Amino acid sequence: KYFSFKKIDLNIKSKEQNKDFDFFVIGGGSGGLAASKEAAQLGAKVGLADYVAPTPIGTSWGLGGTCVNVGCIPKKLMHIAAQYGESYEQQEIAGWSVYRQSIQNNWTQLVHRIQENVKRTNFGYRVSLRENKVTYFNSLATIVDQNTIKLQSGEQLKDAIYVKAKQILISVGGRPNYLPHIDNNLVITSDDLFSLTKPPGKTLIVGASYIALECAGFLNGLGYDVTVLYRNKILSGFDQDVASKLQEYMSYHGVKFVKGEIKHLQSYNESQREVTYNFGGQKEIFDTVMLAIGRVPNTQNLGLENVGIKLSKSRKILADQKDQTSVSNIFAIGDAVEGRMELTPVAIKQGRYLAQRLFNNQNEFVDYNTIPTTVFTPLEYSSIGLSEEQAIQKYGQENIWCYVSKFKPLEWNFSEKDNKSRGYCKLIVNRQDNERIIGLHYLGLNAAEVAQGYAVAIQMGATKKDFDKTIAIHPSSSEEFVLLK
Ligand code: NDP
Repeated sequence: KYFSFKKIDLNIKSKEQNKDFDFFVIGGGSGGLAASKEAAQLGAKVGLADYVAPTPIGTSWGLGGTCVNVGCIPKKLMHIAAQYGESYEQQEIAGWSVYRQSIQNNWTQLVHRIQENVKRTNFGYRVSLRENKVTYFNSLATIVDQNTIKLQSGEQLKDAIYVKAKQILISVGGRPNYLPHIDNNLVITSDDLFSLTKPPGKTLIVGASYIALECAGFLNGLGYDVTVLYRNKILSGFDQDVASKLQEYMSYHGVKFVKGEIKHLQSYNESQREVTYNFGGQKEIFDTVMLAIGRVPNTQNLGLENVGIKLSKSRKILADQKDQTSVSNIFAIGDAVEGRMELTPVAIKQGRYLAQRLFNNQNEFVDYNTIPTTVFTPLEYSSIGLSEEQAIQKYGQENIWCYVSKFKPLEWNFSEKDNKSRGYCKLIVNRQDNERIIGLHYLGLNAAEVAQGYAVAIQMGATKKDFDKTIAIHPSSSEEFVLLK
C-alpha cells in the first residue's frame, strides 16, 4: 500500500544528553516544533520527542507531523499538479501550440516527487532543531508523573530512559477516524493517499469537509472518476451559501455528489471494493474507497491518566485559554485539544505564544475569532471569521448584513469550460458595530493569496467603510471586496 523510499537516517545522535529540561515537548508536528524552537531561542533548555519508527519499508512519518507528512504540503502539491493539467486548454486558447493527443498524469511519478519533498522537509526540521539547540529524542514518550517522562526507542521500543522537565507540552496531533461497521482494511484515508503505490482509479470519498473535498477536487483534476458520499451537508462548518456554489462548480467539472452513507463494504475482487449504500440497496464498485470523516486525537498510551489530565468525550485534551491542562505545569496545543480549529498555523501560533508566555513574560493569546483558512478545492474557498449562519446565531438576523458579488475572473476568458461558472465574494458585517466586518468569504482563484491580506485588516477591526475607502487593484479578483455595494 505504501511507497518505498531510500532510507534517510533521521536518527542523528544529539550531542547534548542532558536529562533535565525547562521545557519538554511531546510531538514534533507544526505546534511542537514551533514551541520548542521559540522556547530554546528564549534561553530555555528544551527537549522534544517524536518517534520516527523504522518499518520494513523505510520509516514512519518523519518530523513535521500531519501538515508535512500527510496534510497541507502533499495536499497542496497534488492540488497544484491537478491545476497544471487543466492549464493546457487555456494555453491553447491563448494561442500556444500544445502538441498533444490527450494528456495523462503519471501517478507514480507524482507520488515520488511529493514524497521526496516530504523527506527533504523532515530532514530540514531535524536540522533546524539542532540549530536551535533543541535536544531531539527519536522516542515514544509517556508521562510518568508531573515532571517525569519515559522515552522508549529502538525498533522494539526496548531502550528506555527517563527525563525530567519543569514544564511539559503535549502537541501530539491526530490520526484519521474510521467507520466502526465496516472492514477498515478495505479503505484508505488521506494518511495513505499521498504514498499510494498505484493510481487510485475510480474513487469513493466518504465525508464532505476539507479533506474530502480537497482530495475529490485534485483526484478529479488528475483524471480519476470521483464520487463524494456525504451524509448531511457539504462543508458543514462553513458558509452554506458559498458551500453550495462550490458544490455546483465541482459537480459541473465532473465530481459526483451522492447523499447517503455506506451500509456495507466488501471486496469485489483483489483490488476492487463493492459498496452498498444505505438507500435502496444500491451497489457500486470502486477501485479505492477513502474515508475523510474527521480525525481523532493521538491521546492513547501517553500516560495522561498517570497525572489525571482531563479529556473530553472525544478524548481530546481539555485546555484553557492559556493552553494549560488540568495539571498546572502541563500544556497542550494543536489538533489534540478540544475546541480548537485543527489548522497548522493555529498550532504554530499557540506554540510560539505559549513559549513567549512561559519564558519571556509576554501575555499574548491566539484570537480565535478571526482565523483565516482556505479549502484548496479546484475553485478555492477562503473564509475569515464567521459564516452567515454563525453570524445570525451570534448577533441575530436583524443585526447583520451580507454584501455579495458574483464575478468572472479575467483568467477564465481563456477557458471554454468555465463560461457558466462564477467566482463569489461575500462580506458579513455587524450593523450594530459600525458595519465592522465579522466574516469574509471568497470563492475563486488564488483564494489563499487573496484572503491573507484581508485577514490582517479584519484582525485590526476593519469596517465596511474602510474597505470602501480602499483603492482597488485592477484588474483582479481581489478588488471585488473593495467594490461591494
Ligand atoms: P472534519 O472534521 O472537518 O469533517 C468531517 C466530515 O466527515 C464531515 O463532512 C462529516 O459530516 C463527515 N462525517 C463524520 N462522521 C461521519 C460518518 N460516520 N459517516 C459519514 N460521514 C461522516 O474532517 P476532515 O477529515 O475533512 O478534516 C480534519 C481536520 O483537518 C479539519 O478539522 C481541518 O481543520 C483540517 N484540515 C485543514 C485543511 C486546510 O486548512 N486546508 C485541509 C484538510 C484538513 P457532518 O458534517 O455531517 O458531520
